[in-house]
Amino acid sequence: MYSGVIPKARSNATLTTIAYSKDHAQIACDSQTTDGSVIVSNTTKKWFNTRCGSRVFSSGGTLDIYAFEQHYKKGAVLPATMSLVKYIRITPGRVFYGEVKGGVLKEEALTTSHAIGSGDKYAIAGFKLGIDAQAAVQLSSELDPQTNDNINTFCTKCARTIENCCCK
Ligand SMILES: [Zn+2]
Repeated sequence: MYSGVIPKARSNATLTTIAYSKDHAQIACDSQTTDGSVIVSNTTKKWFNTRCGSRVFSSGGTLDIYAFEQHYKKGAVLPATMSLVKYIRITPGRVFYGEVKGGVLKEEALTTSHAIGSGDKYAIAGFKLGIDAQAAVQLSSELDPQTNDNINTFCTKCARTIENCCCK
């Protein structure tokens, strides 16, 4: 984690880095939750699993992510007042990018490497240099105070953790 002065957090929290590398068939995320300038957790799970076998990684305010998860899992109504939630969803072999705002969910196939969250620009810069998703989040954690280096990485071909992946 960056050890310099922590800048004031943006009001619409997107405080994480979630990075998808198409070239490496890999998605990685950090585990930090920040409230204002206070780190409240270093071990937050940034994804949830759905009954149909998807794994959904989301960035946004904590309450908005909760509302989104309830909608996705149980069909709960999306509150019109919720702020923007961005997410990347994987099912074995397929990757999607989605946004939820004002009670509306939009999703499309993700055909290039991409990153979301407060450290997104660092991860995308890393992709330009050819690094994988785990290294991209590692890079973000060094430059973005709202991203930590407790990183979880998954294979997008089988949706398992890279430790449990047998694709290669
Ligand atoms: Zn795999």
